[in-house]
Amino acid sequence: MHRITVIGGGFAGLTAAITAAEAGAKVTVHEAHHTLGGRARTAEGPYKTNEGPHALYNGGPHWSWLKQRDLIGPLAPIPPLEAARLRLRHNGVLRRTPPFAMLKLLRPGARQAPVDVDFLTWATEQAGEEGARAAAHYSAVALFHHDPGALSAAFVQERLRRATKLPPEAHYPRGGWGSVIDRMAARAWNLGVRMETLSRVDTVPTDTPVVVATSLDAARRLLRDDSLTWTSGRAALIDLAVRTRRGDAFAVSDLDSPGWIERFTAQDRTLAPAGEQLIQGQIPIAPHETKADGITRAEQLLDLAFDGWRARVTWRRETVANGRTGAVDLPGTSWRDRPAIDRGDGVYLAGDQVAAPGVLSEVSFNSALTAVSLALGRHTLDLKHA
Ligand SMILES: Cc1cc2nc3c(=O)[nH]c(=O)nc-3n(C[C@H](O)[C@H](O)[C@H](O)COP(=O)(O)OP(=O)(O)OC[C@H]3O[C@@H](n4cnc5c(N)ncnc54)[C@H](O)[C@@H]3O)c2cc1C
Repeated sequence: MHRITVIGGGFAGLTAAITAAEAGAKVTVHEAHHTLGGRARTAEGPYKTNEGPHALYNGGPHWSWLKQRDLIGPLAPIPPLEAARLRLRHNGVLRRTPPFAMLKLLRPGARQAPVDVDFLTWATEQAGEEGARAAAHYSAVALFHHDPGALSAAFVQERLRRATKLPPEAHYPRGGWGSVIDRMAARAWNLGVRMETLSRVDTVPTDTPVVVATSLDAARRLLRDDSLTWTSGRAALIDLAVRTRRGDAFAVSDLDSPGWIERFTAQDRTLAPAGEQLIQGQIPIAPHETKADGITRAEQLLDLAFDGWRARVTWRRETVANGRTGAVDLPGTSWRDRPAIDRGDGVYLAGDQVAAPGVLSEVSFNSALTAVSLALGRHTLDLKHA
């Protein structure tokens, strides 16, 4: 029987552990934290905030993999009345529909964008500068980057398409991603995976193949390999609970600069106590900007879309996610140029900043499948890469 060690018990580590165990391997997972889930953890307590993901895109390969194993669980669909309350800030005012020029970039038959040109240059040729800027800023919902227009046109176009598809690809596991993680952990447990929490690994074992399923920063330190870097986003995050008031927006996308605010209790009442709403916002910030700059922009959006919110606040938290929102690709680069999964000597990388396709956590998922396939020396695993 193959033995395999997985370092990191987040979405990538659990995917790797389940895949390897299903293939008959004897798996041990080491997780430094006292609970599994990594960035996909959902907070305990009255406000079920997510540190990372909310949206599970049903166009991704992880969707069918999780579904086949009955790991998604109940979803929280967005009621149509709430979906109609999506607002867009454009030229300083809230509107219900995107500017016409932006729609040109969303047409199903739109041309495939090139890898080696930045999105703003390419999209301006297609739709004019106003539409290009609005589209770039809208894409920040899945990019978390302060200047999406400066990234590879092909990279941004894929995220824009996925984030604007109808019917929407984004689905929300009821109770947050923590519920999916709990089901994945139970599945791993039932397959005989040994999961050791509070088990930080400082030296990579050499007696089994190893999947390093940590963030890329942690992998760089663990493997002492300075080449393990890639660009990512930086965003100010605001979590708010407010007393319920009829007429609040469902979500606000800022088309004047990147930013997204969403009232997650619109689709999932279990996330906050009765009579309160949970709102979470992400405002990408440039390297020279501070958390306060991002929070000020978030408050401007809240002022526009959530009447009297300041007097209704019952709980509030702010933080910065720095390099924690997955890979972004600069012009001339694609996922193939990111740090390779196979590091040699039986060590394989899985995570959301390595050489695998997909949007956000799908990169963690795809790389985990590839890492296990290589680690077990098999080519028969179901590698449904996008
Ligand atoms: C604000 C935000 C919003 C996001 N929104 C979405 C979204 O809507 N949809 C989506 O699909 N994705 C989203 N993402 C991305 C998603 O959260 C990540 O891609 C995914 O959770 C990464 O999983 P992972 O297992 O690769 O890494 P992690 O979750 O970081 O897991 C790595 C694990 O390794 C452990 N570890 C580290 N070092 C060691 C060590 N030496 N020994 C043992 N264990 C170690 C860590 O404790 C951690 O548990 C978002 C992320 C953020 C921050």
